[in-house]
Amino acid sequence: MKSLILAIDQGTTSTRAIAFETAPEGGLRPLAVSQIELEQHFPQSGWVEHDASEIWRATLQTCGAVIAEAGGIGRFAAIGITNQRETSVLWDAATGEPLHRAIVWQDRRTADVTTRLATEGHEPMVQAATGLILDPYFSASKFAWLLDAVPAARAGAERGEVKLGTIETWLIWKLTGGASHVTDATNASRTSLMDLADRTWRPDLAELFDVPMAALPDIRDCSDHLGDSDPSLFGASLPIHGSAGDQQAALVGHGALKAGDAKITYGTGAFLVVNVGAAPVASTSRLLGTLGYAADGQVAYALEGSIFSAGSAIQWLRDGLKVIGGSGESEALARTLTDNGGVYLVPGFTGLGAPWWEPEARGTVTGLTRDSGPAHMVRAALESLAYQTRDLLDALAKDGAPKPKVLKVDGGVTANAFAMQFVADICEVVVERPAFQEMTALGAAKLAALGVGLIGDLEDHPVEAPARWTPAMDPAERERLLKGWRGAVRAAIIAARPETA
Ligand code: ADP
Repeated sequence: MKSLILAIDQGTTSTRAIAFETAPEGGLRPLAVSQIELEQHFPQSGWVEHDASEIWRATLQTCGAVIAEAGGIGRFAAIGITNQRETSVLWDAATGEPLHRAIVWQDRRTADVTTRLATEGHEPMVQAATGLILDPYFSASKFAWLLDAVPAARAGAERGEVKLGTIETWLIWKLTGGASHVTDATNASRTSLMDLADRTWRPDLAELFDVPMAALPDIRDCSDHLGDSDPSLFGASLPIHGSAGDQQAALVGHGALKAGDAKITYGTGAFLVVNVGAAPVASTSRLLGTLGYAADGQVAYALEGSIFSAGSAIQWLRDGLKVIGGSGESEALARTLTDNGGVYLVPGFTGLGAPWWEPEARGTVTGLTRDSGPAHMVRAALESLAYQTRDLLDALAKDGAPKPKVLKVDGGVTANAFAMQFVADICEVVVERPAFQEMTALGAAKLAALGVGLIGDLEDHPVEAPARWTPAMDPAERERLLKGWRGAVRAAIIAARPETA
């Protein structure tokens, strides 16, 4: 019986395929996994590129491996895809070959374009239409850069001979042998070109960013039939029936389906996504408005806030400061202290994200005394995860979004029980970590399983109980700590922009 889902999780640092099967108690559970690391290219300062052909080869290889391990293509019902968002690919429609390396979401090469558009006063319109601020993070300025950098690409795009897309669009094109040029609405919501309320391309935005509409894929819902894989790839054809960007897929994976449900992924950076219900909410505190998912007639919008440095602050303690041998040691060292001793670390290594958006801010430590030692730095780094999360939740509250009762967490840093308890204490919210951690792949698999009718809804059906941390801190203590943190953030901002002192 065809009861398995092939989930493709194309991330920034690796490409993975996971086979999921339907579980007797409902929902999906993993059966086989294959993963290949992805080479990162840094051609100039601030530039980050991936080889889209390498991504495609890794997709074929990892899918082939899990199909074989799970008992052959005959057992699979559909493919679901989730991907690093905003990363932009340009390719030749006739040959299916990329015309340039893909420009990765972290790449800042088009900052001059988005700064110019902001200076010209376009941001309020762009934000009202798309939910996004003007920033090189999003795909539109990357698309235009590719069209200008590759000779004759712009003319080819106008004629439909050159195609543009984010990573899921590229993979669907390759999987279908060029039959489908489609994107799902969550990925489209990260381009700066999609009207968030209507989920259609905006010709005025395409013109503003200088991207020809003819080169853009069709926008589809997340559990739509997005095409059929070429039978020569895996021995038989499979319908592609699910697609969502990684953070949105994680929202679905966690089963955060109701307004007020929230998830945060604590990896290298951290991404908070909060379901705000069936209509977009306009942020006044510079959170991003985005689509949560659109599947099977149900639409959920979301607000999103990114923390640029989360686990990367722990990596810096290990590799830069060398005060720990491995990330896992951070917890025991932090626990050797009864409190932070007044030391705060603002991990603005690459600037501060939402709600501050201070690109020039840098890492800042405040409150050092002669008693401060390695444990204080470790503790301050772990505490900073909670303070930054609190800042995002406060911004959400300002935007009038419902306060999450439970924060569902995943990602490498959630192995740290000290940090998770501190998040619960500082954010006054219950923190829940599911036993199965691959929320992104699970979300893509759920969307595809829903699309082909293997499951009836996107609800979560965990087999094992989640780990759970409940707030236990004295309110006065919390206020004292937050005051110290806010002072440290002010110091970081003043150091970056002394005129604000
Ligand atoms: P990504 O998907 O962004 O590569 P992961 O979800 O794999 O990230 O998480 C990796 C991060 O988690 C690293 O930055 C690492 O330092 C951090 N990390 C792993 N274990 C711990 C721990 N016990 N305490 C704190 N941080 C940890």
